[in-house]
Amino acid sequence: MALLEVCNVGKSFRKRGGELFRALDGVSLSVEVGEIVGLVGSSGSGKSTMANVLVGLETADAGTVRFQGVEGDVSVKPSRRSREFREAQLGMQMVFQHPTSSFSPRMKVGEGVAEGIAYRGVARAERMPLVLDALESVGLPRAYAGKYAWELSGGECQRAAIARAIVGNPVLLLADEPTSALDVTIQAQIVRLLAELCAERSMACLFISHDLALVRSLCTRVYVLDSGRVVEEGPTTHVFASPQSDAAKLLVSSVIDI
Ligand code: ADP
Ligand code: MG
Repeated sequence: MALLEVCNVGKSFRKRGGELFRALDGVSLSVEVGEIVGLVGSSGSGKSTMANVLVGLETADAGTVRFQGVEGDVSVKPSRRSREFREAQLGMQMVFQHPTSSFSPRMKVGEGVAEGIAYRGVARAERMPLVLDALESVGLPRAYAGKYAWELSGGECQRAAIARAIVGNPVLLLADEPTSALDVTIQAQIVRLLAELCAERSMACLFISHDLALVRSLCTRVYVLDSGRVVEEGPTTHVFASPQSDAAKLLVSSVIDI
């Protein structure tokens, strides 16, 4: 059984003029335990909307999600989803595009990372050792717990955001363009870190990106989204070697080999 099974998720937004715009149209996808899967597509294809529906930041119009064996109706408000499903959902954590968006400017990095376990009912006194371990796992000095996010470089801050996401030992990481706000050299380091963390912890990852070169280095399988629909899916090497859809062809042709 797959770790995550997304079935027929649809989501429309009302545009300014009042007309409905379909951001997701019958999207189905799956992720196996420990698997790193790419979700690619051009800007506006619905990638972030998909991630937001999964973690409950958005309510879909239709669709079901089965995660860790628990099925949930994602077309009802997150607060009205079954308790069992919401508990299972704690096993998926998100890393956002902008590193600082995971941290409040008034909070020290240690406190911000601790938020990643506070909701799980870990007692205050037990949090800091786990936070320091998480910082170490992402390659940051433990002393960074006492710094503010704005004192860190972009790459360091994204590492801290990853620490916040993994401190509660999730089984699935949703990484929404986690490197697109970073310099190219730093991008590669963050991608390597994600790969290492997934391997060490048997953690799965849905890696969302418009950058197929990064996806090629990280993901075994890939889904291509275009205008809210999955237009292609398969092993990354196949999609690279012979893209079938126009959307995949365009993405592949934009990869610059260096
Ligand atoms: P991607 O992450 O692939 O760039 P998004 O999922 O962010 O795409 O957005 C898909 C489409 O849905 C875009 O056209 C975007 O403008 C629209 N959209 C996303 N969120 C909202 C919202 N809250 N209200 C209205 N339109 C939205
Ligand atoms: Mg996006």
